[in-house]
Amino acid sequence: MKLPILIHPDPRLKKRCEAVPDLTDDLRTLADNMLETMYDAPGIGLAAPQVGVLQRLIVLDCVKEEGESPRPLIMFNPEVISASDETNVYEEGCLSIPDQFADVTRPAEVKVAWLDENGTPREEEFGGLWATCVQHEIDHLDGKLFIDYLKPLKRQMITRKMQKLKREMARA
Ligand SMILES: [Zn+2]
Repeated sequence: MKLPILIHPDPRLKKRCEAVPDLTDDLRTLADNMLETMYDAPGIGLAAPQVGVLQRLIVLDCVKEEGESPRPLIMFNPEVISASDETNVYEEGCLSIPDQFADVTRPAEVKVAWLDENGTPREEEFGGLWATCVQHEIDHLDGKLFIDYLKPLKRQMITRKMQKLKREMARA
């Protein structure tokens, strides 16, 4: 089932999310629905608060090459446990901030720990686009958006555009 994605500004996108205490079937269904919503958008990552659920859950799949098999990852309670000193700049976007893109600098490699959909603890080192995406999604769980890394003027400009977009969507 496709879920509606919240558009910035929304107070739910600014909240720190709660850790998931136990994996339930409801949470697994939510994760599957988030993946469906992400692929449909299309996007490479989605965090639970973006669909109005304030729990620490993200989904991602950064496989972009045509013909390469997809690699959907579901992460409950994801945590960056180490990050490289080396940084990388990517032009980031966000499904909650449609059609806006800006360069963000982040550690080039991160090691992430999480619980998978079976509740099994997992750990993996990510680089390239995966590293950027997983950090962007974990930020969402702490109420942080990629525009929070930009200069205030640029951030305000994007926020005003989004307010206008939301007014137009409400009228439609
Ligand atoms: Zn985002």
